[in-house]
Amino acid sequence: MLELEEKLKAHLGVKHLFFVANGTIALQIAIKALELKGEVITTPFSYVATTSSIVWEGCKPTFVDIQQDTLCLDPQLVEQAITPRTSAILATHVYGNPCDVEAIEAIAQKHQLKVIYDAAHAFGVQYKGQSLLNFGDVSTLSFHATKLFHTGEGGAIITDDDELAHKISYMSNFGHDGPERFLGLGINGKNSELHAAMGLCVLPKVSDLARRRQEISKHYDQLLDGLGLVRPLIAKDVLYNYAYYPVIFPNEEKMLTVIHALNAQQIFPRRYFYPPLSELNYVEKQEGKVAQSISPRILCLPLAHDLSSSSVVQIVAIIKENL
Ligand SMILES: *Cc1c(COP(=O)(O)O)cnc(C)c1O
Repeated sequence: MLELEEKLKAHLGVKHLFFVANGTIALQIAIKALELKGEVITTPFSYVATTSSIVWEGCKPTFVDIQQDTLCLDPQLVEQAITPRTSAILATHVYGNPCDVEAIEAIAQKHQLKVIYDAAHAFGVQYKGQSLLNFGDVSTLSFHATKLFHTGEGGAIITDDDELAHKISYMSNFGHDGPERFLGLGINGKNSELHAAMGLCVLPKVSDLARRRQEISKHYDQLLDGLGLVRPLIAKDVLYNYAYYPVIFPNEEKMLTVIHALNAQQIFPRRYFYPPLSELNYVEKQEGKVAQSISPRILCLPLAHDLSSSSVVQIVAIIKENL
């Protein structure tokens, strides 16, 4: 476990990293360690864990809409959502595409808010020549089997704050300080040696996996050109990891037709992220026009290092026939 943590720190270029049971407990421990209370400004366009972890830790999510081009939290809308009860911003680097970290940082400083990035998709992404994980107070990763780098199940908490790192280290291990002393409240958030061993096997291959995904993404780009499907914009100054290949259809009906046609050929793309998190039955309903428009008609096409060229050709042919 220590070996994996050391290798991940070196690979990613981050100061403190804790290998935990999954990406969801990583978010929960981050919220707990930062002692967040009241309202947390967050995105409706993410995986459910981004919102559920806020509610699970006794805070209230305030949803702010996303940007039309990057699909990440819109910083221009954040400021007007801040109230005296707001304690933090929890934003997702959607599909590994960085949030506007500078604008978010400026707002957070002005209003004394903490910032957590759900970086579950952002393994290895660089922004302006450094790890994207170095922005915000804390970033979290998921190492679930579906992610670019994985340990079967797993996740990580990243920070460059020494004091916060100390707190996260004992909080994720029952509060232990050695076998007979406790520093404070903790939970069993740690991962196992077995999962760490899986990570040590995958890590040396991760650059090749990303390169293969890049080639497949380029192939999709060529074949899909001219079909009128919109792709999210990758922000400037970004070294992208090619974790996902999302396409936005003109409407939900066309997308559903394509999904059914693909499913009939045993091809299973993923609706990701759907539905918008502001529609969950345990949050206050809030409008987010862009998220509500994109979520029902965005689809992640199959993308894996071992996806063959002929499969890519077949997938695009099926899409074309059904548009
Ligand atoms: C996968 C994912 C999570 C949850 O991670 P787990 O390791 O499955 O708990 C959280 N947020 C986002 C954006 C994810 O994609």
